[in-house]
Amino acid sequence: MSNPKVYLVGAGPGDPELLTLKARRLIDEADVVLYDQLVGEDIIATLPESAELISVGKYAGCHTVPQEKINELLVEYAKRGKRVVRLKGGDPYVFGRGGEEAMELARHGIEVEVVPGITSAIAVPASAGIPITHRQCASVVSFVTGHEDPTKGEPSVDWAQLAALGGTLVVLMGVSRLAQNVEALLKGGRSPSTPCAIIERGTRRDMRVITSTLDRIVERATDANVRPPAILVVGEVVGLREHILHGERT
Ligand code: SAH
Repeated sequence: MSNPKVYLVGAGPGDPELLTLKARRLIDEADVVLYDQLVGEDIIATLPESAELISVGKYAGCHTVPQEKINELLVEYAKRGKRVVRLKGGDPYVFGRGGEEAMELARHGIEVEVVPGITSAIAVPASAGIPITHRQCASVVSFVTGHEDPTKGEPSVDWAQLAALGGTLVVLMGVSRLAQNVEALLKGGRSPSTPCAIIERGTRRDMRVITSTLDRIVERATDANVRPPAILVVGEVVGLREHILHGERT
């Protein structure tokens, strides 16, 4: 029997054509696939019937199976000599607790191979017509979690410093605390007229894009009843969208 091994695979933002060739091959060869719902229905529909398919999570921060149990399952299946794919939305190491899973497996002497995925942090704005950098208006990009739980011992996000930094801000998991985070950015001095977009279910067939300014985005998101998964983009680059999609002149 070969050494136990787990493939920690990124599935990209949801469009099945944005899976890497390596992800596709490993999925098709797997004995067991443990996947998050964030992977997206269209990809889940392509998981092979020959494999044991285990749904372990809804969205980040909202797991149907606790993280400890996921870790246990991964260790158990790997030790039984199964070809195990742990399939995660986007890239496994971007706000997805992939590092925790990899460390837990390593602690049990199980080899981990990470297969990077296309992260929603970059691909979702792109699919909505927003380049996250642009020579004239953004030389810095910050990726931030909008859903911070102080009790989990995570380092805290300094929204005032982010506001002062400028450039493009990409907020993941930002739906539930949108109002507080926007408030903190405004307080930190980010201009109320800064263009913003919320992209819900980016790259998927029912993607929605809501645009506004920083001082109005919460109201617009509430009116539109935005639901996870969604990404908030704050910065002048959002203003390029109209030029890119409709050829408006600058
Ligand atoms: N590892 C993932 C991120 C996990 S955190 C990645 O690299 O993409 C989960 C957050 O990702 C969601 O709350 C949302 O903010 C974002 N997200 C993932 N897929 C998305 C999609 N298709 N559309 C919009 N946001 C998405």
